[in-house]
Amino acid sequence: MIINLDEPNYHYDRFRKVTEDLAKQYDSILKCVTIGESHDNRDILLLKLGLGKKYIICCGGVHARETINPVVLLRIVEYYADLYINYRQKRLNLKKKLTSPNVHLKEEYEQMLYDACIYELLQTYTILLVPLLNPDGYMIAQYGFDSIRDPKLRDLCIGKDYDPTEWKENARGIDINRNFPSQFWSKKFEGDYPASENETKALIRLFQEYPSLGFLDFHSRGKSIYYYRNRMPEHYNKRQLDIANRLCEITGYELVPPEEEIDPGDTGGNTVHYYSEYFHKPALTIETVEDEANFPLMDQYRNTTFKELKLLISEFGSMLLFRSD
Ligand SMILES: [Zn+2]
Repeated sequence: MIINLDEPNYHYDRFRKVTEDLAKQYDSILKCVTIGESHDNRDILLLKLGLGKKYIICCGGVHARETINPVVLLRIVEYYADLYINYRQKRLNLKKKLTSPNVHLKEEYEQMLYDACIYELLQTYTILLVPLLNPDGYMIAQYGFDSIRDPKLRDLCIGKDYDPTEWKENARGIDINRNFPSQFWSKKFEGDYPASENETKALIRLFQEYPSLGFLDFHSRGKSIYYYRNRMPEHYNKRQLDIANRLCEITGYELVPPEEEIDPGDTGGNTVHYYSEYFHKPALTIETVEDEANFPLMDQYRNTTFKELKLLISEFGSMLLFRSD
């Protein structure tokens, strides 16, 4: 196993190394490329998992302090890739066992059905995963402002005068999840404009380059799923609700009601709003980790989050295949 969920803090350099190691280990099914560079010159990596011509886009690490999801998402990629690679051999072994059944056969058969689903999924889809959209922020939240190498950016961050472990923004102090050109976006200060940030541009380019069927953005605030998009028509939100209900069922997360979609005073510009308005495909925000969790998030959250999420992406893919607008 390359991704060890119990390993203490993954420094960006280590994160990058294991991401590239995954791509090497599973090179027949997994590719790693760079889709942009952060303002403090860290590469924003994209993993392409699968052989299919249909695409799902997943993103993590938009908010700096939400440090659990990027590592968990890598582990999910490894989990799926491993199932895929071993599927044919396992199926052969199971066939042999059918002639001499043993007591574990039922369990093995059920696991095989799940493996078959993943195998089919990755034949049909390519999952485009940006595990860490905001690498500079991720470093600030875990290693403090000294991790920012550009002295001007470092001073700018220090000047914001708040605890780095609570940091949500990028190295220019901009919240990327308030920087997308959605209809609801509003200016927060003089000179503020949508898609001003390298990280925002990188994700928009990815959205535009691949005609995807759906988008999941992973955050960490209270084990819940946001589905409602107030600028979208009723039939869009009905489909969103169907998907969200199913994903809540398999994760145990709570459905966020429409009236709580946007907090009072929110300035808009979220990834999911932009995606839904421009591409009219399902876009959900998955919030991991309980509401009371303190920052910095404990590494122990990774194991529970992995268990909660490991079926979610494959289920999302299946739902997109069997339902259409
Ligand atoms: Zn967030």
